Amino acid sequence: MDQMLLLWKLQSCETSLEEVNEKKNLATMERKIKKMKIDHCNLRNNLKKLIREYKDIENILMKNNHQCKNLYFQLKEIEKEIYDGSVNDLKIYQKREKEINLLKETIQSVEDQSLEKMIRKEEIQKEILKNKKVLKSVEKIYKESKEIYDEEIKNIENQQKELQGNIEKLQEKIEKPFLDIYKNLKKDIKPILVKVDRETCTGCNMGISIIRLKNIQQNETIYTCENCGRILYVEDIS
Ligand SMILES: [Zn+2]
Repeated sequence: MDQMLLLWKLQSCETSLEEVNEKKNLATMERKIKKMKIDHCNLRNNLKKLIREYKDIENILMKNNHQCKNLYFQLKEIEKEIYDGSVNDLKIYQKREKEINLLKETIQSVEDQSLEKMIRKEEIQKEILKNKKVLKSVEKIYKESKEIYDEEIKNIENQQKELQGNIEKLQEKIEKPFLDIYKNLKKDIKPILVKVDRETCTGCNMGISIIRLKNIQQNETIYTCENCGRILYVEDIS
């Protein structure tokens, strides 16, 4: 095959590989997935905290309930003692009344706390439900995005492998002097290989003389543009 055509193909493969390597949308995707992971982690932690608080409240309510039952029992016992007329001593009577008042106050404060906790329990219940819903949707979006991302990574790796293989094959086919000049010039200008279109260098739009063009077409060697230094490639349309 024509050496210049091989060089042209080599340059196309190298350009494609560079483009594949530089996939910017992947970086955006990576950032998005990372953020989702953090969000997910925060949501989970928050949910755990809420569940813990919910359980704590349940324990407090149970404890309060038990305590109230005891207090009411004690109250009933003292009231029974007072009202059935078995207490004759005024001092004991007054002492019992004081005990009753204290018991009532304690019961009131325990019941107030329980009520407060029940209100909070309801709020937490709602928050937990909301959190679970959000968490589920985040998980769904994360899973979908991760699948797309993994698929994309696989695609890129396949493309890289294929292009790399093609580049190696082309480099084997291209004669060393051609390859060396190409590689050497490539360091300074990109793309180094440009087509000649209507007697013009498409790299810099400078005209090329008919004689020079004929030389390029007839001799298979490397010609560079006298103006921009790029390698000129004339497509063989015969
Ligand atoms: Zn030029």
